[in-house]
Amino acid sequence: VRAESTDTKRVLLAAPRGYCAGVDRAVITVEKALDLYGPPVYVRKEIVHNKHVVTTLEKRGAIFVDETQEVPEGATVIFSAHGVAPVVHDEAAALSLKTIDATCPLVTKVHREAKRFASDDFDILLIGHEGHEEVVGTSGEAPEHITLVESPDHVDEVTVRDPEKVVWLSQTTLSVDETMETVRRLREKFPKLQDPPSDDICYATQNRQLAVKQMAPDTDLMIVVGSRNSSNSVRLVEVAVEHGARAGYLVDYADEIDEAWLEGVSTVGVTSGASVPEVLVRDVLSYLAERGYEDVKPIVAAEESLLFSLPNELRRDLKAKN
Ligand code: SF4
Repeated sequence: VRAESTDTKRVLLAAPRGYCAGVDRAVITVEKALDLYGPPVYVRKEIVHNKHVVTTLEKRGAIFVDETQEVPEGATVIFSAHGVAPVVHDEAAALSLKTIDATCPLVTKVHREAKRFASDDFDILLIGHEGHEEVVGTSGEAPEHITLVESPDHVDEVTVRDPEKVVWLSQTTLSVDETMETVRRLREKFPKLQDPPSDDICYATQNRQLAVKQMAPDTDLMIVVGSRNSSNSVRLVEVAVEHGARAGYLVDYADEIDEAWLEGVSTVGVTSGASVPEVLVRDVLSYLAERGYEDVKPIVAAEESLLFSLPNELRRDLKAKN
């Protein structure tokens, strides 16, 4: 029988964690649209990459579709926080859909940068993950000017038309350190490479990674609450392990935690991705408390207070109703 000593067991709880301003806005957009128009309200792609959020909204009458063509003519469709390519707006118009665009304003900012550099005829090296919805959306702004660079190892294959006119942009939810390594290698190859006008990796991604970096060296096990398709959540596990956590796991729900992970563990780090409701973190903390990890110490890496107003189309309709 293993000796249980509760006094050496503790939890380091990351702050900030969980919902960012863009996710908060996107989820409220669907909730308010359901209240205002009544179900069903169609949502193109997962509104945010979190299983719990999606199933909760489904129960309230949201219908998630993969393609615009699956939405019945004339219905209301919400575009997800990850953004869409211009062609998707055209598809929606062709079906006379009422659209509400819940694209995070920080993703829209990257779209604007892509359009501007494309109109100045730059080659744009977009650092990001192939197939991720945000990358598909941003690339769609200027497909003929954008080349995707997935990681530092892909830099060798990159070619441009004019090395004097090259800029890099990125997906908002990448590992800060890996992205900087990709940029360093790109700059070795293209010394005139321009930086984006401001950080594309968003404040929420950066802050959540910062907290994990502070905790990781003292952490035996890092539990990140988040879904597999959530880029920023997956990155948090990687960052934890790179910075000294002995192990790191991603779970959607507390009941996915394997008791065996806690074997010999005195310090558990807990955080959550930007699309994760706090209730899921509370469940993990309860699970841990039941196993002797009751001492919870917050590790505060940054304060966040950003809020985004709801999409204009929705605000207009809400106002008209009141
Ligand atoms: Fe916006 Fe960043 Fe949140 Fe994505 S993670 S929705 S870019 S704030």
